[in-house]
This record gives sequence, C-alpha cells and structure tokens, in this order.
Amino acid sequence: MAKFNVFNREYGWIELICGPMFAGKSEELLRKIKRLEYADVDCLLFKPKIDTRNKSLIKSRNGKKMLAIEFDDPFEIYDVLSKNVNHPQVVAIDEIQFADPKIIEVVEVLAKKGIIVYAAGLDNDFRNNPFPITSSLASMAEHITKLSAICTECGAPGTCTQRIIDGEPASFNSPIFLIGNIESYTVRCRNHHEITDKKFSKKSDKFIKNYKEI
Ligand SMILES: [Zn+2]
Repeated sequence: MAKFNVFNREYGWIELICGPMFAGKSEELLRKIKRLEYADVDCLLFKPKIDTRNKSLIKSRNGKKMLAIEFDDPFEIYDVLSKNVNHPQVVAIDEIQFADPKIIEVVEVLAKKGIIVYAAGLDNDFRNNPFPITSSLASMAEHITKLSAICTECGAPGTCTQRIIDGEPASFNSPIFLIGNIESYTVRCRNHHEITDKKFSKKSDKFIKNYKEI
C-alpha cells in the first residue's frame, strides 16, 4: 500500500528553485527539506560532484547545513533510490545547473514514478545567459520559485550574477575557470549588470545607440 502522502494525495511533480547567487536558493531548499522532516517524510538530498565548494555539505549562507549524496552520473540517483528500503517520497538536488544533462531525463522519470523532485540552481551564468539545464527544468516544472537578491548598486531586486575579475566587470569572453586572477561575485539588477565585450547584431547596436530613454 502506498504510504501516507502529505501532499494531498498528489504524486510526482517537479519544483524548481532558481535565481542568481546570494538569493538564498540552498537555504530555501533546506527549508523545504526541514519542513518535510517534521512530517516524517523521507527525503534524499543530492548534488553534482563538480561543485567542490563545501564538498558534500550543502551549506546555506545563514549557516544551516545538510549532508548531500554526490553524483557524477545522474543515473547513480536510480541506484541510491533502488537500494533505499524507505522508498523516499522526495528527492532534492542542489546546484543542478552543474549536473550532466542526463539529469533532465532522471528528474522526469522520478516525477513519473511518484517522487516529488525539488531542484535548486542558478538560472543564468555571469554573462546572463541561461544555464540549459535550469531553463529546461523551468519548462518541465509544475512549480517555479524564482528568487532574487538585492542589487548592490541601487537596492532593486538583483537578478543577475555579476562577476568581477581583478576589480573590473568580467568580459563576456572571460573563461569560466580562472587561474591566477582574483575574482569575486556579487549581484546586480539588469540595469547595473555589467558585461564588457558582449556582441549584439548591427541592428541592435544601432537601436542601443540611437534610442532615447525617458
Ligand atoms: Zn541596480
């Protein structure tokens, strides 16, 4: 017999938590898991191995932490679930933008099999281009929570991750991984997000140059 379901007898859906850095995505994911723990719902937390910041610890910036199961190949999630006698009702995945693209299929299959999947990740990279995995999940998900931080320049909702290299806004062409440079990240609104060397088409360049803003 199916276990008691705290989700109104609905089974299997996908919920995405996305946004820029410093928006509290991991914190929101941990909050959801904690809430389930109080209701005795079995939940497993995963993260792709590529993010080495806290090793297998998911740490929100307010100091909460939880141990995650790391995976290289998303199909490893099937192995973990198959071996778990508790049949977890919920699978949570943090930093999902860094997972292998096979994660899309895995998330779809889990939801089809009645599992509730919480996925958290960056929506866009420092160029403000979408991470393909996050944008695919945004299309597939039943529920999306888009979080924002606060623009460090004006206090408006900060939706863009700003990369700073050696004290200057990063170039569009700067490599993702840098060795020997001092880099940092902050959050800006669209208006204050700076990215140098971004190429637009001639028509867009002309419009940018000539259109008078109010
Ligand atoms: Zn701003």
